[in-house]
Amino acid sequence: PSQYKASIANPKADSPPHTMSADQAFVTLATTDNYAKGAMVLGQSLRNHNTTKKLVALIGPHVAEPCRDVLGTIFDEVRVVDVLDSGDAAHLSLMKRPDLGVTFTKLHCWTLTHYSKCVFMDADTMVLSNIDELFEREELSAAPDPGWPDCFNSGVFVFTPSNETHEKLITFCSENGSFDGGDQGVLNSYFNTWATKDISKHLPFIYNLSSISIYSYLPAFKQYGHDAKVVHFLGKVKPWSYSYDNQRGEVRGHSLPPDQCQLHPDYLLLWWQLYAKSVQPLLQHAYGDSAFT
Ligand code: UDP
Ligand code: MN
Repeated sequence: PSQYKASIANPKADSPPHTMSADQAFVTLATTDNYAKGAMVLGQSLRNHNTTKKLVALIGPHVAEPCRDVLGTIFDEVRVVDVLDSGDAAHLSLMKRPDLGVTFTKLHCWTLTHYSKCVFMDADTMVLSNIDELFEREELSAAPDPGWPDCFNSGVFVFTPSNETHEKLITFCSENGSFDGGDQGVLNSYFNTWATKDISKHLPFIYNLSSISIYSYLPAFKQYGHDAKVVHFLGKVKPWSYSYDNQRGEVRGHSLPPDQCQLHPDYLLLWWQLYAKSVQPLLQHAYGDSAFT
């Protein structure tokens, strides 16, 4: 259909070039095609809310070519990060800690030193409004984790790219491991004064709202939830674990056990609406209309 052609030809047309902040960027990560779909929705949500920042997607070497192409139409920069090729420190550390592969890959964001400041966002997040004001914050700013609020959640954080910090993080990670097996454990151990030192580094919860907090404190969600700026589909079940009926505009999740259908239905529907409207046409185009299902 013709309305899709415009977005394929120039999906970045909405952002006036003169207002771009060339040295600041939103950064995400996808090592699989599914997480890449999440990254596409995230990137498109940032575009729809007229961010003036650059968009960077770090991808693993296994992300399929058509997915890379689509990421390339939404993001300003798509960078393949293969930890094994990324210099001695990371390589040697990974040999000792093969379990921390994705974590090492996420720490790569610190090597984006052509930007002065960045905001990392998990591929399972989606913005509901413009959040460029986050760039007024300093490293390391993040919102509390809903499970243990003295830890920050590493799904959304403000950081300053630096090769020195990257090296230190890699070394720290290989020597101390991660208490939760992932990047959040490492980052909380490394930036260990977050909980107590500087309240301006505590992002309001509305910048990283996960379904688990909605259900564990429903009255607070009813009071404050309408101010939410970033939704985080944290946990084992992701939006792409469901399917979507394009005709009816309904999300389907029949294959999932009921106790795992924990994502907030309104946000889940929003994710799929954005996917169906803006991402699926690009993927169909990239895969060739007949091959993509
Ligand atoms: N990620 C990835 N591939 C994976 C697992 C994770 O690219 O196989 C990236 C992706 O950006 C994801 C982030 O690492 O959003 C953190 O993982 P996830 O969101 O699954 O953890 P949760 O937020 O549920 O704790
Ligand atoms: Mn996440």
